[in-house]
Amino acid sequence: MLKPSIKSLLLDELAHQLALRGEPSYRARQITGWLYKKRVDSFAAMTDLPASTRAYLAEQFSFVGPEVVRVLGSKDTTQKFLFRLADGNLIESVLIPASPALYGEASDRRTACISTQVGCAYGCKFCASGLDGFSRNLDPAEIVDQLLAVEANSGQKIDNIVFMGMGEPLANLTYLLHAIGIINAPWGLEIGARHITISTSGLAPQIRKLATEPTQFRLAISLHGATDAVRSQIMPVNRKYNLATLLEACDYYVARKKRLMFEYILIAGINDTDEQAHKLAKLAARLSAKINLIPYNTVEGLEWSRPSRNRQESFLRILRDHGAVATLRREKGHDINAACGQLRLQTRRAERKERSPA
Ligand code: SAH
Ligand code: SF4
Repeated sequence: MLKPSIKSLLLDELAHQLALRGEPSYRARQITGWLYKKRVDSFAAMTDLPASTRAYLAEQFSFVGPEVVRVLGSKDTTQKFLFRLADGNLIESVLIPASPALYGEASDRRTACISTQVGCAYGCKFCASGLDGFSRNLDPAEIVDQLLAVEANSGQKIDNIVFMGMGEPLANLTYLLHAIGIINAPWGLEIGARHITISTSGLAPQIRKLATEPTQFRLAISLHGATDAVRSQIMPVNRKYNLATLLEACDYYVARKKRLMFEYILIAGINDTDEQAHKLAKLAARLSAKINLIPYNTVEGLEWSRPSRNRQESFLRILRDHGAVATLRREKGHDINAACGQLRLQTRRAERKERSPA
């Protein structure tokens, strides 16, 4: 049987396990200090632990982090990391430098875009992550390890996280919340809940669940259409949870004094009409939601394109005329395929070609 990763445990879980062995109560904190503050990469490096404790840890837990397969981009631009997991699956993470439009506020923060699943089952028509279908959920350690690996490989400190990489975070809610427990904790990565954004394609029942979570992270709803006709055309999930159902779940969320925001990809001729803009502004007003407009990123093999700069600006103007708080993302990383899922897709296609030469 595969050993669990040491990085999948919360402090009290680790403390409990060590107490059963008769270890002193400070031991768990010593270990999390080595893992998340000093960032060592083996049990052997935890030099203030007795040899017997180190041997016990090595016997019970694994320490393997992801293997870096490719890194694209440079220090001052978006950097993209392709990782191979222990079972051979590929996932990707993105490091985005200061970007005022990313989550609506001026900021000098470095944001990491993190994956939560291998592939995605929701098959949005514009998205590279869904193209190859769904393989599996990432476990808490595989989520936390992306952050550790991005920091180790970029030499930069991450202070903002968006779960907007590959996968649907709310379809992996238990592991996601567990990972956030480690990311958010003072003994862990110490990233404040208000700097953690979960993005969802609109899983209404899970949005209701999140409404009662005590942690104050941010929630982004990938709306991408202001009517059922437009939304269903590009997001199959809308046939399961239509706009009325989704918005009721959002009302419930907001009624519990929580804020959410809308993400809205602009795709030429599909969802970028004046009519959609007027309707979107009204939905945002209902929920006091900020709107983040994202010009569509071209995905190889998909027919969609981004609207002209003029069209993007007039869509934004309509929203603002309604009094909506909206930003338009001036793309960083378009040139290196920053939309998550694309690097993995290219690499998998290339690997398949290598295996079966024409
Ligand atoms: N599954 C979740 C989170 C991952 S997708 C969700 O759908 O919200 C994160 C964001 O990237 C979503 O808003 C998604 O719509 C957007 N996205 C996906 N493909 C894109 C593309 N080609 N161009 C621009 N944004 C894209
Ligand atoms: Fe999945 Fe989100 Fe991509 Fe839709 S946009 S296929 S939900 S990752």
